[in-house]
Amino acid sequence: MQVPIIDLKTQYNDIKAELDRAVIKALSEGHYINGPEVKKFEEEIARYLGVKHAIALNSGTDALYLSLRACGVKAGDEVIVPAFTFFATAETVSMCGAKPVFCDIRPDTFNIDPAMLEKLVTARTRAVIPVHLYGQPADMDSIMNIARQKGLRVIEDNAQALGAEYRGKKTGSLGDAGCISFYPTKNLGAAGDGGMVVTDSDELSAEIAMLRDHGSVKKYVHTGIGVCSRLDEVQAAVLRVKLKYLEAWNLKRRKNAKLLDSMLKGVGLPYTEEHVSHVYHQYTIRHPEREKFAGFLKDNGIMTGVHYPAPLHRQEVYLKAGYRDILPEAEKACREVLCLPIHPELSSEQLNHMIITINNYRG
Ligand SMILES: *Cc1c(COP(=O)(O)O)cnc(C)c1O
Repeated sequence: MQVPIIDLKTQYNDIKAELDRAVIKALSEGHYINGPEVKKFEEEIARYLGVKHAIALNSGTDALYLSLRACGVKAGDEVIVPAFTFFATAETVSMCGAKPVFCDIRPDTFNIDPAMLEKLVTARTRAVIPVHLYGQPADMDSIMNIARQKGLRVIEDNAQALGAEYRGKKTGSLGDAGCISFYPTKNLGAAGDGGMVVTDSDELSAEIAMLRDHGSVKKYVHTGIGVCSRLDEVQAAVLRVKLKYLEAWNLKRRKNAKLLDSMLKGVGLPYTEEHVSHVYHQYTIRHPEREKFAGFLKDNGIMTGVHYPAPLHRQEVYLKAGYRDILPEAEKACREVLCLPIHPELSSEQLNHMIITINNYRG
């Protein structure tokens, strides 16, 4: 039996009629950029997350970059980011000319460690980017407290956690700005690239809307140096169809996770905090012999992923820039984590095959 790590073909076939209709409608209407589908999608996401503004963009990376720009992050500034995340979290800080300052993670949640974060704040620190890694909200009460005391902006990297909740509030709505990715494999994925910033701030919203369209506030009136980062109508049409299924898909991910939690033996199970609703973008275990274990699973048809094999402070580009931090928990996580299939398209046969195979592993 084969168990793929992600199954976008099955997802497409499950809702093919609706998706095909929406795409053909968007094609036939001929707006393509900044038309009614994008506007409606922005309104729907804003309502879903309980925020005032949503600005659709080309990618989650642009969402981070333009949020940082809108918060005034520039050369000479520092922005604190976790060392254990996707590269874009730090890359976008560097793109602003600022310095990413790498923070270690909590070993249980894999999210940024607030105790260390507090110690890393200097006179140059402008912002912090908590990442809701794997779909589990970061420790937002502590992070918001530190940020308020020290006057820092909080930009949530919500790329992996759309639909997750922290004390009953949706992630992305808790900081100054929330950044979403619609990369195809994310919990809400487009048929290509896409991203969005959500915010309650009129100022940040206006600034990001200006930056996404060549720094223009109206046609041929340019008040800033921006970028070209727009979501197109076809992607918005696809995303509007899929948004209707997001809650059900996230629920299925949680159910799959609960089953694995209760059945798996001999592996380090994921930990979930009390007051959060986790959306399991990834179901991440720890294993002391990860490569051997992953090879055994592969031999049995079960695909896995390693997110991430190296911490950001050990990436070549940051080593060259003189980073020599030692962040033991991020480094340990990079050696031990293994992401198992958890997507909503998994059948009960596939789940059972995973459970039996894993529990039969004898090293
Ligand atoms: C996917 C991802 C991004 C980048 O999103 P793109 O849409 O691929 O640009 C940023 N941060 C994290 C944590 C991600 O998982």
